This record gives sequence, structure tokens and C-alpha cells, in this order.
Amino acid sequence: MKKNIHPQYVTTTARCACGNEIEIGSTKENIKVEICSKCHPFYTGDNRRIVDTTGRVERFKKKYGLN
Ligand SMILES: [Zn+2]
Repeated sequence: MKKNIHPQYVTTTARCACGNEIEIGSTKENIKVEICSKCHPFYTGDNRRIVDTTGRVERFKKKYGLN
């Protein structure tokens, strides 16, 4: 077995754009993320926001004639 093939895996704090900080395992330190479990509709279970996002996609398709 060769050593040091993989980067060192450390626990670090990722700061989200919403201000929430999450402890995550990563090969990088001081990570910034734009979305986290607190503000992402998928994780918060806010189905209405998911529907709204889908609606935006549909409008986008219509606007550019992709349907
Ligand atoms: Zn967030």
C-alpha cells in the first residue's frame, strides 16, 4: 500500500452565505458555501419553495421557447 495518495481528510467549518456554520469533513479548510441545510429548500422540506422554483424553470423555458 502506498501512502499519501489521498489528501488529508480533516474536519473543518464551512460558513454558508446565510451565516450558518456547519462542521463538515473535507480535504480543505475554511470552506465557504452558498447554501446549507438551513437555507436549502430541499433540506428544510419547504415543498412550496420547490414548486415555486420549478415554476420559474417552466417560465424560463417558455420565454426562450424551449417547450
Ligand atoms: Zn445556509
